[in-house]
Amino acid sequence: MAAEGDVVAQVLRRRANPTELLQILRETQEKLGWISPETGRAIASALGVPATRVESVVEFYSFLYDRPQGRYRILFSDNITDRMLGSLALFEHMLKRLKLKRGEVSPDDGVSVDLTSCTGMCDQGPAVLVNSRAVTRLTARRVDEICDLVRGGVPIAEWSSDYFRVEDNVRRADALLGSRYEPGSALSAAIALGRQGMLDEMKRSNLRGRGGAGFTTAVKWESCRNAPGADRFIVCNADEGEPGTFKDRVLLASYPERVFEGMAIAGFVVGAARGLLYLRGEYRYLLEPLMAKLEAMRRGRLLGASICGAQGFDFDIDIHLGAGAYICGEESALIESLEGKPGKPRIRPPFPVTVGYLGKPTVVNNVETLAQATEIALYGGRTFAGRGTRRSSGTKILSVSGDCARPGLYEYPFGVRVEQVLKDCGTSDVAAVQVSGPSGVCLTPDEFRRHVAFEDVPTAGAFMVFGKDRDLFEVARNFAHFFAHESCGFCTPCRVGTTLMRDALDKIADGRGSRYEINDLMRLAELLRRTSHCGLGQTAGNPVRDTWAKFRPAYERRLIRGEFDPAVDLDAALARAREIAGRDDAAAHIGAEA
Ligand code: SF4
Repeated sequence: MAAEGDVVAQVLRRRANPTELLQILRETQEKLGWISPETGRAIASALGVPATRVESVVEFYSFLYDRPQGRYRILFSDNITDRMLGSLALFEHMLKRLKLKRGEVSPDDGVSVDLTSCTGMCDQGPAVLVNSRAVTRLTARRVDEICDLVRGGVPIAEWSSDYFRVEDNVRRADALLGSRYEPGSALSAAIALGRQGMLDEMKRSNLRGRGGAGFTTAVKWESCRNAPGADRFIVCNADEGEPGTFKDRVLLASYPERVFEGMAIAGFVVGAARGLLYLRGEYRYLLEPLMAKLEAMRRGRLLGASICGAQGFDFDIDIHLGAGAYICGEESALIESLEGKPGKPRIRPPFPVTVGYLGKPTVVNNVETLAQATEIALYGGRTFAGRGTRRSSGTKILSVSGDCARPGLYEYPFGVRVEQVLKDCGTSDVAAVQVSGPSGVCLTPDEFRRHVAFEDVPTAGAFMVFGKDRDLFEVARNFAHFFAHESCGFCTPCRVGTTLMRDALDKIADGRGSRYEINDLMRLAELLRRTSHCGLGQTAGNPVRDTWAKFRPAYERRLIRGEFDPAVDLDAALARAREIAGRDDAAAHIGAEA
């Protein structure tokens, strides 16, 4: 207990604000392994908040634990593309080798093995997180080696660095990924343009948010700048949780100065002095390198007071780490999380540009959007708008995974045809492409001439390829499990509806489903679309609707006679009645034509 008290005191010396509760809990857990009731109460008392607030945060985030964990916590990425690479067999193999059941902690080795949502390594899966560090390209041999290391009690710091090698896999670079970049050049260019001049360039560029919604960035920045109040914030949404998306991982790993300078340029335009980057918990391994980059930028006067010598241009950045909640990618849920609360979407309006972080005007932009702002500062809005289409300017980075020879990042001007991407990444016999993750759209070959653009096939970046031998019913079922797991529980249609959808698909998979379940699924999908509070619930029915419409045989072959299968044979039960009545004509039988 004394050790626990010391740890809590140590963490609170650096962070003593209730808005940092999530970070306090995360840092405490990194030292103690879990958040015991005593630890939770000590934190609550020191912060002056009810213990129930601490409990609600611990309960909400899947990477916070309210019971002891093993020294080694192993989480298998359960995205469909990891499954296609054999992750489930490897998961079972590891459980068997370690003589464990899913989720249990072994008393001797102090290890637990479980599944988690997509970890953003789809281009180099199957992947696992071992104490928050990503291990990629898992094979049966690698699983055996990890089991031996765990059994031998070898500290993770002594494991081969090859296990933790994460590659960028940039396969096609365009304006953003392909250009040479001089650190500080975009900031200097923005300062030379002036605040209004930079905003005007943003307007000319017609840059739209790369996180999926496609809102015009300049409108967001201007609305925030014009909102009443003295303090403003710039938030970079690096909670890249959409299964199949990993572009932000690469931007943060290899192009961080462009992201940070994009944040500073946004701060310059709107008059914000502080930025917050919300990094998804699955990318914990990027935290130290990103902190080091921030330090280097401060030393180079690219952050801090009077940036690049410009009097009055003060801006600095903090990094907050998420803790395994997909819904925090929704901008208002992300702000709740930044404020140290469970990440549940707010009721809007008001929108974050007027009432955001701590109730102050806040711009929330995606990693890629902010990186693109540096390009606009350097080359101007017109040059930027000269690429792509009229309504979708600039380039878009796609995270390509699944059945293709060259998974990785592909940057194209907007408007590229789906068939071009398929050709470039090396595919044959493609049955379907899921664009923009489970909440996106499932395209079949007759749609491959469509264009990736906001006006045709919009996307946050995921591009998952499924070959002819893939079972699209299982794809939809995997997505249904994802939505049921990630629903935040705030509104009833989504909380209950996603669970019912998952259960109905499981029933069909077990061979116990009928047309009744199909009708129910379609009804639920529509109900979710109309009545859910946020995008997660509104789009949760998309995969089942799409695959039922386009891959019906995958469902029909699993259905019981395609119709409801009664448990009682009513016609047989009426045999005695027919005997007494002396009738055996067709009309005396159930189901017979009159
Ligand atoms: Fe939460 Fe789902 Fe409602 Fe969104 S739709 S607020 S994820 S319960």
